Amino acid sequence: MMTSELERLHLKAKDTARRYRSSETELLQVLSEIESLRGYLPLGFNSLFSYCVSYLGLSESQSYSFMAVAKKGREIPEFKKAVESQEISFSHARKMVSVINSENQKQWLAKAKSLPLKALEREIVKENPQAPVVERLRLVSENESELKVGIDREMEADLKRIQELLRTSNLKQALKAVLKDYRMRHDPIERSKRAKHIAKTESTPVRFGARQNPRRSIPRHVFHDVQRRDNGRCQFKGTVGQVCGASFGVEVHHLEPWAYGGKHEAANLLTLCHRHHHYWHHRDQIPRTVRTQTGS
Ligand SMILES: [Zn+2]
Ligand SMILES: [Zn+2]
Repeated sequence: MMTSELERLHLKAKDTARRYRSSETELLQVLSEIESLRGYLPLGFNSLFSYCVSYLGLSESQSYSFMAVAKKGREIPEFKKAVESQEISFSHARKMVSVINSENQKQWLAKAKSLPLKALEREIVKENPQAPVVERLRLVSENESELKVGIDREMEADLKRIQELLRTSNLKQALKAVLKDYRMRHDPIERSKRAKHIAKTESTPVRFGARQNPRRSIPRHVFHDVQRRDNGRCQFKGTVGQVCGASFGVEVHHLEPWAYGGKHEAANLLTLCHRHHHYWHHRDQIPRTVRTQTGS
């Protein structure tokens, strides 16, 4: 027989779990709305993911789950409805995003509504036996992370050949050499560091995008100065003081537009990621309650 104290704890656990599940659903809904407004951009984040991790303090795997379920919900409205009405729990929803599609949705929604989580997982594995390796980068110590990634036969042969060239059986060494080599060759920041030693009189223009008029192109040495100063990262500063810092697909923005006499000088140029660059030029057309302070 349960003591009244234990009974009280079980009731409390049940009630808390119920509220926990319903907050997951609520969070999913509000994140979907933020995504549709790109509401993370004015704050200085360039994706819903970095917003979830840095601003909301969710873990990376929680953030991935919310995004995956929200994305599936946009593709399959019936799935969205079932999750929002809590006919399907968030944990069930998260598991089934890898298998459900518009053709099989009826069947999978029925399974998700009737089966406990473990049984649903078994059904998913049966359906999807050769599920691709889930990529993962996991911190294991202060100085080391574990990388898990599936590779195809061709990549495996390349890796073996590189090990031969390096005379090593150590995968980490082979990977390190390849990464270093690619970065030295292709990273604009590394190239800008090397270009520092080239005479500043060189003025081969740099073009960013095929649509750009060559007359508007920025002299190469100026481009390299901007790259070095901004470390190749988006400098957009959001309303909460967050500097975006994204380094993928960055562009160079003229603070004073070139068309109005803005110069190709480092002081007039700013590195922005594609999303923040677009936002910068279009923010007056986007209905927002918060206006952004610009970092320059
Ligand atoms: Zn611009
Ligand atoms: Zn950005």
